[in-house]
Amino acid sequence: MTVWLRGDHLVRHRGPLARRPDDPLLLIEAESFARKLPYHPHKLTLVFAAMRQFRDELREAGRSVHYRQVSTFEDGLAAHFEERPDDHLVTTEPQADGARERIEAVVTDHGGTVEFVPDERFVCSREQFDEWASDGRYRHEDFYRFMRRETGYLLIDGDPVGGEWNYDDQNRETPPEGWTPADPPTFDYGETVEETAEWVAKTFAGSYDDPPYGGDWADPAAFRWPVTRRQAVQALDHFVTHRLSDFGSYQDAMRGDEWAMSHSLLSTSLNLGLLAPDEVIERAIAAYEDGDAPLNSVEGFVRQVLGWREFLRHVYRREMPGLAEANQLDADEALPEFYWTGDTDMACLSDVVDGVRRRGYSHHIERLMILANFGLVYGVEPARLNRWFHAGYVDAFHWITTPNVVEMGLYGAGVFATKPYASSANYVDKMSDYCSGCPYYKTKTTGEGACPFNALYWDFLDRNEDALRSNHRMGLMYSHVDNKSDEEWDAIRERADEIRAMAREGDL
Ligand SMILES: Cc1cc2nc3c(=O)[nH]c(=O)nc-3n(C[C@H](O)[C@H](O)[C@H](O)COP(=O)(O)OP(=O)(O)OC[C@H]3O[C@@H](n4cnc5c(N)ncnc54)[C@H](O)[C@@H]3O)c2cc1C
Ligand code: SF4
Repeated sequence: MTVWLRGDHLVRHRGPLARRPDDPLLLIEAESFARKLPYHPHKLTLVFAAMRQFRDELREAGRSVHYRQVSTFEDGLAAHFEERPDDHLVTTEPQADGARERIEAVVTDHGGTVEFVPDERFVCSREQFDEWASDGRYRHEDFYRFMRRETGYLLIDGDPVGGEWNYDDQNRETPPEGWTPADPPTFDYGETVEETAEWVAKTFAGSYDDPPYGGDWADPAAFRWPVTRRQAVQALDHFVTHRLSDFGSYQDAMRGDEWAMSHSLLSTSLNLGLLAPDEVIERAIAAYEDGDAPLNSVEGFVRQVLGWREFLRHVYRREMPGLAEANQLDADEALPEFYWTGDTDMACLSDVVDGVRRRGYSHHIERLMILANFGLVYGVEPARLNRWFHAGYVDAFHWITTPNVVEMGLYGAGVFATKPYASSANYVDKMSDYCSGCPYYKTKTTGEGACPFNALYWDFLDRNEDALRSNHRMGLMYSHVDNKSDEEWDAIRERADEIRAMAREGDL
């Protein structure tokens, strides 16, 4: 019997690794997997460095680790079964049933057997979710309340602490002049990260020419993600001590000179299994109970981790494979080149893409209301934007990127999003400081220099009227559509066409 830990299952103190202290372990580094997309070098450095550190720590602790550096997973499994014929592998269940079937087929082909055990990187089990969703409807807020009741988090005698389930209306402030968040943490990596970064550059450099990331893409010095459990715990401590208090109020705010704001920067550690969701939730709740963080911050954080992260994981499982290709609005535009290069005059997009190029990260509202929103109103085919997000972000894994991009960002399937998150420059201006430094005019919809978001927003509502007008949540927007004259619509369509042409030519 061997415990097979896949590269994003670096869970040490629980799960199959902890439950089977005497069994050997298998980890497979497959290069072909890393070549599937032009992944951000920091993402590759993160995953490979974390796997290598994990291997070393386990060996130091006396565990027997078979670490295979191979071309494909199949090669790794073939080599394993050659050495240990008829072995029985124990591994965590994959996020999609298709992946489970593929693993079973490869293992069986090589004469072995495989057993799937629950994934300890999540709180909500498959059975719990399926029972909750037995009527086939997914509504995040209902799920979130269900999970609060199931876990007892932020409840007193069955009622929500503070009287409300959700303090979302207190999560939309913009910081005052002069506000600065605590600097994000840095870590003492030793040699592994530097060595892995050099190896990544040498091994995968060829992959970065297409699409063109450019020569200065991804400065290794900007790498700042935990690669060990110890560093992940330091990151959690840092967040709870220095950033959690402001997390809630400024959760939706964007500032050009603050890439992290007061966000936790914990997604990579959670997704790799270096931190457990219940652990981070309980730390945040303890800070509230000790009077060190306000309720709107703590509830907001709990909602993201206990609510959204768990919810999307199961929606993905149940809606794949259709979700990845879903495109209910028939959007068919190619992704503008500036998503890769950052080469656009639009101050908001240029800054956010620059951050992604540099560090493989942007925070949630930049992902949703700048990058996905532009893709939505421009009409980018969802699978294309999904591929870009999946390639470019350090925390991207298909199970979490796909529901966020295809459904939440681009309203591709309509399985849980109740309306598209489409907005004009109005929203960007309210929540950020981008527009004041932008050559485009935020208040102009048509004509030269008008902010591209504006004409595209109206054009989006017009193009998708058949699909969207009957949605009662879109009523207000369509009342504004109805107030526009024919002349206004002609000018809007003309400007939207012009913007698409500029984007295709690289002139936007
Ligand atoms: C278009 C789009 C693409 C996204 N792609 C990814 C992705 O590839 N990988 C990823 O981990 N998250 C993704 N997210 C969700 C979210 O933006 C990131 O989890 C978050 O920005 C990570 O930064 P943080 O750790 O500082 O998060 P914080 O803002 O501090 O939030 C705390 C934690 O809550 C969880 N969380 C928050 N929002 C979500 C959400 N919408 N879905 C799932 N979990 C959430 C994360 O685990 C996060 O670490 C995406 C969101 C959008 C809109
Ligand atoms: S004016 Fe438009 S393009 Fe410029 S920053 Fe504002 S929203 Fe972005």
